[in-house]
Amino acid sequence: MQDVVEKVYEQVVARNRGEVEFHQAVHEVLESLDPVIAKHPHYAEGALLERIVEPERQIMFRVPWVDDAGQVHVNRGFRIEFNSALGPYKGGLRFHPSVNAGIIKFLGFEQIFKNALTAQGIGGGKGGSDFDPHGRSDAEVMRFCQSFMTELARHIGPSTDVPAGDIGVGGREIGYMFGQYKRLRNSYDAGVLTGKGLAWGGSLVRTEATGYGAVLFAQSMLSTKGESLEGKKVIVSGAGNVAIYAIEKAQQLGATPITFSDSSGYVVDEAGVDLELLKQVKEVERGRVADYVERRPGARLVTGGSVWDVPGDVALPCATQNELDGDAAATLLRGGCGVVSEGANMPSTPEAVETFQKAGILFGPGKAANAGGVATSALEMEQNAGRTRWDFATAEAKLTGIMADIHDSCVAAAEEYGRPGDYVLGANAAGFTRVADVMIAHGIV
Ligand code: NDP
Repeated sequence: MQDVVEKVYEQVVARNRGEVEFHQAVHEVLESLDPVIAKHPHYAEGALLERIVEPERQIMFRVPWVDDAGQVHVNRGFRIEFNSALGPYKGGLRFHPSVNAGIIKFLGFEQIFKNALTAQGIGGGKGGSDFDPHGRSDAEVMRFCQSFMTELARHIGPSTDVPAGDIGVGGREIGYMFGQYKRLRNSYDAGVLTGKGLAWGGSLVRTEATGYGAVLFAQSMLSTKGESLEGKKVIVSGAGNVAIYAIEKAQQLGATPITFSDSSGYVVDEAGVDLELLKQVKEVERGRVADYVERRPGARLVTGGSVWDVPGDVALPCATQNELDGDAAATLLRGGCGVVSEGANMPSTPEAVETFQKAGILFGPGKAANAGGVATSALEMEQNAGRTRWDFATAEAKLTGIMADIHDSCVAAAEEYGRPGDYVLGANAAGFTRVADVMIAHGIV
C-alpha cells in the first residue's frame, strides 16, 4: 500500500478497535486504490480517504421486547448511515446473534461502493440487531420488529435512509416493520423500506434479484473466455434467499447446482437440487437442511467439514462473511473450480481471494456480483415514487441490464488501472471513483 493509504488504514484500526471485519473490508478497498491514487493523486487530497472510511452517522439503540412466556429480552439495534454522496442511505437490516458494530460497519462500507456500481443514485448504509429469529414464534418476531422500528423510524425516510432485508430479515420481518412505521408516522411512505410484499408496494424480481444477479455475473465473467454456465456443476453454500434464487437461475442457464448448506451442515444432491422441495423446506416450513434429505432419496447431509470439499466447476458462496478460507479455496481449485461469484458479502477471506487470483480463475467479488439485490431495491423505490408496477419480464430485463453494466464497468476499470481481469480492483476502483467525484463536488461535508 502507498504511504498515504497505509496511514488511513492504520487510523481505521486504531479508531475502531476490535472491529476486525470492518478492518478487513477497508483494507481490501484501500489496497485496490494504489493504482487509482498513483494515476489521480487528487483523490488523496482534502482528507477524502479519511472521510470515506468514517460513517456519517452511527445509531445504536436498545430494543426491549417480551417473549411468549412474558419474559423481557433486551437486544441491541444498529443503523450505520455511512455515505450519502450519491443518494439516500440504502442497505439491508441483518438479524443474527453475531451482529455487532464492526459487522454492520463492514457491511455499510461495502454497500457504499456496491451501490455506486449500480449507478442508481443510492448512498450506503446498513443496520440490524443481535436478535436471533430462529425458533421464535411469529408473534415474538412481530413484537421484536415493532420495538426495533419504534426507534429506527426516527432516523429513516424515503429520501433519507431506506433499509431492506439481509440475513434473518425477509418479507415477514419487512412487513411487521412497515406496519409499525406506518402507524408511528401516520403516513403510507411505501418508499421507506424495500423488499415489501407485492400487494403493498413490493417489486417483482426483488426476492430473486440477489441470487439471480450473482449467477448472471458468473455468466458474464465466463463469456469473456467464450464459455457459459451450460453443463457446469455448481457448488452453492447457504439455503436462504440468496442461495435459493442462485440455484434457480443457475438451473435456468443449464447448470447443475448440487449443494446447499445452513449452519447445521451441508447437503450434496448429485442428481441436482430439487428446487421446489428446497423452497418448501426453507421458505414455507422454515425448516433445516436435514428436512430436505429426509424427503429426497440420494441426497446426503454432511455435518463435518465444509461444502467447499465438494468438487465442482463453479462456486457460489451465498451464506455469510469469511465462510471460505484459504484452505477451502485451495480445495476448490483442486476440485476443478474455475469460477467464483460471491452471492454473500465478503464470504472469501483475504487468503482465499489471493489463492483464487494467483490461480488466475474468474473471481467476482460480492460488491459487484451480489449488487443485483440492492439494484432491484432501487427499482422498487422507482416504482413506489411513480406509483406504478412493472411486470416480471420488465423488472428482470432491467436487472439483467444492470448486472451486465456492472460487469463491464469492473472490466473497464481493471484495464484502465493495469490489471485486466482483476474484478476486485475493477469493482473497488469503479465504485470508489464514482463516490469520490461526487464527494469532491459536494465540498468538505
Ligand atoms: P438468509 O437469512 O435468507 O439466509 C442465510 C443462509 O446462510 C441461511 O441458510 C443460514 O443458515 C446460512 N448461514 C448464515 N450464517 C451461517 C454460518 N455462520 N454458517 C453456515 N451457514 C450460515 O440470508 P440471505 O440469503 O439474504 O443472505 C445471505 C448472504 O447474502 C449474506 O452475506 C448477505 O449479507 C448477502 N446479501 C443478501 C442480499 C439480499 O438481498 N438478501 C443482498 C446482498 C447480499 P441458518 O439459517 O442455519 O443460520
